[in-house]
Amino acid sequence: MSERRYDPTHDEWVTFATHRQDRTYKPSTADCPLCPTHPGGPATEVPRDHYEIAVFDNRFPSLSPTPPAPDLAGDDLVPVEPAYGHCEVVVFTDDHEATLASVGERRVRLLVDAWAHRFRALAADPKIGYVLPFENKGEAVGVTLHHPHGQIYAYPEVPPRPAREQRAARRHRERTGRCVFCDVVEHESKDPAGRLVVEGTHFLAGVPPWARFPYEVDIWARDHVGTLPELDAEARDDLARVLTRVLAGYDEYFGFRTSYLLGVHSAPVNVPDDERGLGHLHLEICPPHRGGGKLKYLAGSETFGGAFLTDVAPEVAGPRLRDAVERATVPA
Ligand SMILES: [Zn+2]
Ligand SMILES: [Zn+2]
Repeated sequence: MSERRYDPTHDEWVTFATHRQDRTYKPSTADCPLCPTHPGGPATEVPRDHYEIAVFDNRFPSLSPTPPAPDLAGDDLVPVEPAYGHCEVVVFTDDHEATLASVGERRVRLLVDAWAHRFRALAADPKIGYVLPFENKGEAVGVTLHHPHGQIYAYPEVPPRPAREQRAARRHRERTGRCVFCDVVEHESKDPAGRLVVEGTHFLAGVPPWARFPYEVDIWARDHVGTLPELDAEARDDLARVLTRVLAGYDEYFGFRTSYLLGVHSAPVNVPDDERGLGHLHLEICPPHRGGGKLKYLAGSETFGGAFLTDVAPEVAGPRLRDAVERATVPA
């Protein structure tokens, strides 16, 4: 069964992809579908004996350009639609044991190009409203394939969290005439409380004053840029530099390979200019770690209230991560 159903009580769509229950689950290293295909060995998803970055369609997609007809007949109250969209896998190294924190700045730079390239290609589908590159990293966040990789989802409309950002940005613009993210960049670039973690020339990384996870780091474009493809070469270099340092800092601070959720928020696509102009490119990185081996779970307040409770002050987390970045060995 593959379909999406509208929840009229929360004004959002929920996607069902029950075939995903059969997807490859924590395969052994020898059976890794993302490793290169070695001569004489079993064929993997990547028919090369070596690669730097590989992008391909997810074999167990939640959203598909050719979705099957829904099982459930929808009605006025609960509309049901085919789960249209695109799900791509982005493998950023052929080294099964590497991580995005360890592949080095040059490879991360290549990943930024791959993201931008795929963003443009997916946004060219007029039925797509939002493109979201993300990485789920580590068992603590439920990863089923250990080989380092990320994903890109292209949704038919703007999903709830970016839609909420768009509403907040519109309200801020109506009130002040300015972009809320540009104002945040200006606010945080003064670093009044030590929350900044890495200051690049085009990007600024810091624990936001409102961090939902104890060691959340957001990476904001300093300029008002909506999407990855709009970044020039110099800005892409800087994003790779800043991101590599933030991730190296996490591993240095926690003392192990940090699990995290990383998402790239951009302007919506195939929308009127006025709506697109509200978007401001930024990355959000949310590790579930609270320190001392403890994990943050989405519990009652977060799940039912949508209200996050955090037990580390951003003004404490910021300097800890900044120190760790300075100590960390950053791979070139
Ligand atoms: Zn592998
Ligand atoms: Zn802006």
